[in-house]
Amino acid sequence: MHAEVAVPLHIFQTFTYRLTPEQSVQAEVGSRLVVPLGRSLVTAYIVGLIDELPENLADIDIREAQSLVDAVPVCSPEILQLARWVADYYSCPLGEVIKAALPPGMTPSLRRSRQAAFAKPKLRRFVRLSSQSNEGKLTAAQQRVISTLVTNGPMQLQLLLQTAGVSASTISSLEKKARVEIYDEAIRRDPLSDTLGVSSSEHTLTVAQASVLQQIEQRMSPEGYTAFLLHGVTGSGKTEIYMRAMQKALSIGRSAMMLVPEIALTPVFSRQLRSRFGDQVAIFHSSLQKGERFDEWTRVKNGEARVVIGTRSAVFAPAKNLGLIVVDEEHESSYRQQESPYYNARDVAIVRAQKESATVVLGSATPSLESFNNASKGKYRLLSLPERIAARPLATARIIDMRNVFARHGKPKVFSDELLEAIRETHERGEQSIILLNRRGYSSFILCRSCGETIQCPNCDVTLTYHRSERVIVCHYCNHRAPVPRVCPACGKKYIYYVGEGTEQLEEMLKMLFPALRIARIDRDTTTRRKPFEQSLADFSAGKIDTLVGTQMLAKGHDFPNVTLVGVVSVDAGLALPDFRSAERTFQLITQVAGRAGRGHRPGRVLIQTYHPYHYALRHACAQDYEAFYEEELRNRQNHSYPPFVALASLLVHGPDLSRVRADSLELRKQLDLVNQDRRSRVLGPAPAPLSRLKGEHRFQILIKSRSRKNLREIADAAMKAIADGGVNLRSINLEIDPVSIM
Ligand code: ADP
Ligand code: ZN
Repeated sequence: MHAEVAVPLHIFQTFTYRLTPEQSVQAEVGSRLVVPLGRSLVTAYIVGLIDELPENLADIDIREAQSLVDAVPVCSPEILQLARWVADYYSCPLGEVIKAALPPGMTPSLRRSRQAAFAKPKLRRFVRLSSQSNEGKLTAAQQRVISTLVTNGPMQLQLLLQTAGVSASTISSLEKKARVEIYDEAIRRDPLSDTLGVSSSEHTLTVAQASVLQQIEQRMSPEGYTAFLLHGVTGSGKTEIYMRAMQKALSIGRSAMMLVPEIALTPVFSRQLRSRFGDQVAIFHSSLQKGERFDEWTRVKNGEARVVIGTRSAVFAPAKNLGLIVVDEEHESSYRQQESPYYNARDVAIVRAQKESATVVLGSATPSLESFNNASKGKYRLLSLPERIAARPLATARIIDMRNVFARHGKPKVFSDELLEAIRETHERGEQSIILLNRRGYSSFILCRSCGETIQCPNCDVTLTYHRSERVIVCHYCNHRAPVPRVCPACGKKYIYYVGEGTEQLEEMLKMLFPALRIARIDRDTTTRRKPFEQSLADFSAGKIDTLVGTQMLAKGHDFPNVTLVGVVSVDAGLALPDFRSAERTFQLITQVAGRAGRGHRPGRVLIQTYHPYHYALRHACAQDYEAFYEEELRNRQNHSYPPFVALASLLVHGPDLSRVRADSLELRKQLDLVNQDRRSRVLGPAPAPLSRLKGEHRFQILIKSRSRKNLREIADAAMKAIADGGVNLRSINLEIDPVSIM
């Protein structure tokens, strides 16, 4: 027999291998197979079994598979089918998709050592009393072991040694006397083992919540696909609805899945889930260890866990008989994978629900333009929760015109007097504040006042950011680090000047202005380690910190009832990004961050500093008017032919050699024109990408816009194939279908 396999590499074709008679008996579609590829070995996935070779393949050309890894397939037919859809829709290799769908460590690279270290269950030594009841004299230590085992039942060896206070030799002599047995057993690596008896109080649903829940539940019992968009303002109690709907799915014998953005799976939330769903819940999150991920995945696969909560890749969790998929904060860009395979988990969730006859609920206070458009066209059913729980008012948002502040002081200020005053007042009332700036580090760039040079990253087309606590300048794209220069590298003069503020500097300024204020900072610099990050959030929650300073990580999901002030130091950098989603992103950011204020009994307020006070994204965000923003943004998208009015694809050609990148992108354009002679699609570029150099590579971009998604795909695929045939390595071109940003 022969197996058709997909390899976990950026290679679009599948390969065929000969199986030994023994492998032929055991092999199944969805199992891993180690095969030789070129001069190395790779772990591939069986995607088809072939009894008779097609005529174009001669048996002599076919190599033999090395070994079959699984007796039971790791990829079920449903997941394989979903992976095929992803590979097809996003035009990416099937093997890459399957790899992304499995927990990390399932597809180890075999290139160097021929011995693969596959993720597997963790075994521990256990000791139990032997079934034979042998008589015979025992030492005191041996007696202690026996009585400990009588009291506790089988125990892990290490624990037994400690409890009975004996050494390993005592146990082995007991084993020789056949009084005890030593054996291995898989133990579960539980990411929530440190759950501190968190209780999650179930609320009595409000009338509005009950009505939304009822509509979701109604669709869940007879199997069938329904998609809902739940547009609920921040603090309207969406989470409670998700929980109840998931409980409903369980109660009718189906499983449930909830996807959350990267940052939202806080320890607090995870523990609440555990207290609600007990061992039924499995958690998928990128900061879990490989072993934990593997065990959670195994529990879902075995059907032990029927509730899956996780970030992006959890959409591929092998849950059986799925009744419900919730996508919380569906507008979040972290659902999109930023490397091949470039899939969007929200869209995969929709397709999975269709294929498995499940209900899908997309939820957000600021739905993406695409989703709201789908709802208004009737593709999704729209549910709304226009009010906060307990009729708490939404925070009032106000714009602070920094042009006036500049005029008043005759120089640029980081903090307006209004914002400083608000921080002071809030603190005096014993309430908490959040200060947000979307730029980490101390200052955004370094300028020489003598010659005007800025210090650039040697690998990327960006300036380096000063990080004062570490005394380094850092590239936020490639992490290039260098010591802080004492003199200008260009002219040698010492007039080095730091321009623009980052979160690190804000923290320092606030500490100086308000010595009594207890301040903590949360951004990517402070969150690389999980523990201090969790600690800051916990301290803030417990009231041990008055003010949190941070980047947009703070804008999402957190529920701190004592926060009554949110200050946004600047949104202007975000508004100015050369991306068709920059207004939408800014609107979402402000609405979400405003949602952090006034969640308790006291009303909240939001102050936004900007030099563009009349920008429509800011105006509508301040008025908390999603629909008005949606209408205006939709017109803009229509005028400039952007999604949802056209399908969009981005082709990014990248490489270390500028002339090569330019030549390849011109060739790609030529091929696109050849297959697009009827001009049904519009091709733009090539032009240098907004980030024209990144990690040592030059980047040119081509965009394709089309009213026909089919046509767009046809010409993109044909042009890619043509230039691959012409010898261009496809790894140097990122083809993104439905890109979430075009930076
Ligand atoms: P959203 O996800 O819509 O922003 P949350 O689900 O976080 O809103 O709910 C906001 C707050 O209201 C939370 O503190 C939550 O515990 C609380 N809450 C939710 N439902 C109810 C209810 N029916 N009665 C009282 N409080 C509720
Ligand atoms: Zn860089």
